[in-house]
This record gives sequence, structure tokens and C-alpha cells, in this order.
Amino acid sequence: MNTSGKAVTCWAAIAWKKISPLSIEEVQVEPPKAGEVHIKMISSGICGSDDHVLKGTFPVKFPLIPGHEGAGIVESIGDKVSSVKPGDKVLTLIIPQCRECNSCLHCKGNFCEKQDVLPSSGLMLDGTSRFTCKGKSIYHSFRVSTFTEYSVVPEIAVAKIDDAAPLDKVCLISCGVPTGYGAAVQSAKVTPGSTCVIFGLGGVGSAIVMGCKASGASRIIGVDINEKKFSQARALGVTDCLNPRKLKKSVQEVVMEMMGVGVDFAFEAVGLVDTMTAAWESCNKSYGVCLIVGLASPESQLSLEAAKIITGKTLKGVCLGASVVCCCSEA
Ligand code: NAD
Ligand code: ZN
Repeated sequence: MNTSGKAVTCWAAIAWKKISPLSIEEVQVEPPKAGEVHIKMISSGICGSDDHVLKGTFPVKFPLIPGHEGAGIVESIGDKVSSVKPGDKVLTLIIPQCRECNSCLHCKGNFCEKQDVLPSSGLMLDGTSRFTCKGKSIYHSFRVSTFTEYSVVPEIAVAKIDDAAPLDKVCLISCGVPTGYGAAVQSAKVTPGSTCVIFGLGGVGSAIVMGCKASGASRIIGVDINEKKFSQARALGVTDCLNPRKLKKSVQEVVMEMMGVGVDFAFEAVGLVDTMTAAWESCNKSYGVCLIVGLASPESQLSLEAAKIITGKTLKGVCLGASVVCCCSEA
């Protein structure tokens, strides 16, 4: 069926309000405008950020079609779209790459100014939505809603992938895997023989473990309150598992005792201020590096013991594992 230029009616999951079950509804998806791509979604992951949205700890507008971790096939393209064509396999990008803004043009930046996460308007770049349901306009999730059979996303939020990529699995490469793996390999640059601790052993934390292991870390401590995560974490490379709820001391004190001098690299992949503080305090005071990967509520504040900032350790945030699609001459 040629859907080019036509609205499509399909099924999608809608969150009518926060902290309520998703409901499967028939929605109308408008055709793509200039600079937009119409995608037939084949698979979608569920990222921790979707969980924050649905639980109401991360502010977005409702009603909403959630999801952002998607793989699909280009159905049609709007005017001026040149990087993909109908039939191409693509991933959605929660943080786009406009290739024109300060972040995109800087070798060390990837937080494109055309992003719609901080803050989230829930609308396309022209300020309108492409989704309606029961006559009501429905908001987009970070401009890349994926819990729908068809979606419209900006061209800058689409990455073309190999024709042979398995679309049922590759959605995880859209967010969780590069976020975690890149945090370890590209941002922290974990070194051979180093020691690491990872707070949160979900999708992102598991990819951090893989990045630490691939970088040759000698000891990898995994921290999670859900012990069901431990067997897979060990299979991926975690050497020691800690459940903070079963410890008599704070987890950072236990990590310090285990390592003597604190870890070389600490990663937070939960999205809570307490685990961010624990990760920071688990690092070696002189040369440790603490990476914040988890997405905290924008209303929360991170409070650190100010005097200890001067001791030499580093606190960094990282988005999508510092991945970039383009661009500048320096590597
Ligand atoms: P997930 O739900 O799969 O995993 C979170 C894990 O944290 C779970 O295993 C859970 O049991 C554990 N956990 C919860 N509370 C804990 C606590 N107090 N101490 C220790 N462990 C605890 O989520 P995910 O998809 O892996 O995402 C993890 C975080 O990364 C989220 O905050 C998400 O929003 C964020 N994220 C950030 C980026 C980025 O670019 N920076 C990208 C994707 C996701
Ligand atoms: Zn940009």
C-alpha cells in the first residue's frame, strides 16, 4: 500500500495521563511534513526513561504515545529529506543530530540543541503533533514515539542502518546499548586492569558492564536492589554483586572497604540522587572518574561535600554514550 502523502490509521499505545495503564487505541498519523520521515515501526525497546515518564518522575505532556527506542522501515519521506528513502531500515534517536548547532559542530558535544528531552514539548519541530486519537491531539515522546505501528519523526532523529540488521532486536542499539557501552568506552575511557562499580544493572547498566569488560577492567562491582539482575550481570563480566538493602553500612563505604582506595570508574545508571552520591563517593579521591548516566527528575538537586571537590576526581554526565553521527575534522 502506498501511504505517501496520506494519513494512516493504525494501533498505538497511549498514556492518557501519568501513572495509569497504557491503552491500545486506533490513532491517525499525519503524513510527514518537510524534513520529516514516516516510519513503520517494527520493534521498540522499553528504556528506563520511558519508565520515569510513565511513573511521572520525569515531566512530559499527556496524552502521549511513549517510547523512543525503536527500529523500523522508512514508509515515506517529506520534502527536503535526503539522508533516507522509503524502504531503508532505520533507528530512532532520542537526541537528534542536526549537524548545525553548537553541540553538533563541537567534537566533544552530542546534546543537540534540537532535542526535546530537557525540556519536553511533546511536539514536532514546527510546534504541532502528527498524532490524533478520538479527535484529540496526542503528544510525541521526545519527537520519536515508538509504541505505535507508524510514527513520524524529524529526519535529524533517524539513523540509517545496515540492510541486514535484524529489526526485531536492533531497537536496543537505538538507546540503551550505546548509552551504556559508550559511557564506559567513549566517555570514561575505562582502562585495562582498572576497577569499576556500576549502580543499576538494567539495560543501560548491563551495557556499561559490557563496556568495562571489553576495556579490560580487572574488577567490576555491580550494585542493584533487585538480586534477579545478578546472574546475567555476572555472565556479562561483573565480579562482585552488592544489594544495598542487605548491607549494614552504606554501599559506598562497602565499596571503599573492598577496594581500599576507591574505584577508578563509577557509573550511575538508576536516575536517583542517592545513587549518584554513592557513585561519587565510591571513586578514588585523587583520580577516580564518576559518570552520571541515569536521568534524574529535573526538580531534584545533587548535593556534594564541597571541600572534597578539590581532591582531583572527576564528575561527568554523559548522554547516549557520547555517540555522534557526524562530523568535525578532529577525532
Ligand atoms: P532499568 O529500569 O532497566 O534499570 C534500572 C536498574 O536500577 C534496575 O535494575 C533497578 O532494579 C535498579 N535500581 C533501582 N533503584 C536502585 C537503587 N536504589 N540502587 C541500586 N539499583 C537500583 O533502566 P535502564 O533502561 O537501564 O535506564 C537506567 C537509567 O539510565 C534511567 O535513569 C534512564 O532514564 C537513564 N538513561 C539515560 C540515558 C542517557 O543518555 N544518559 C539514556 C538511556 C537511559
Ligand atoms: Zn545539533
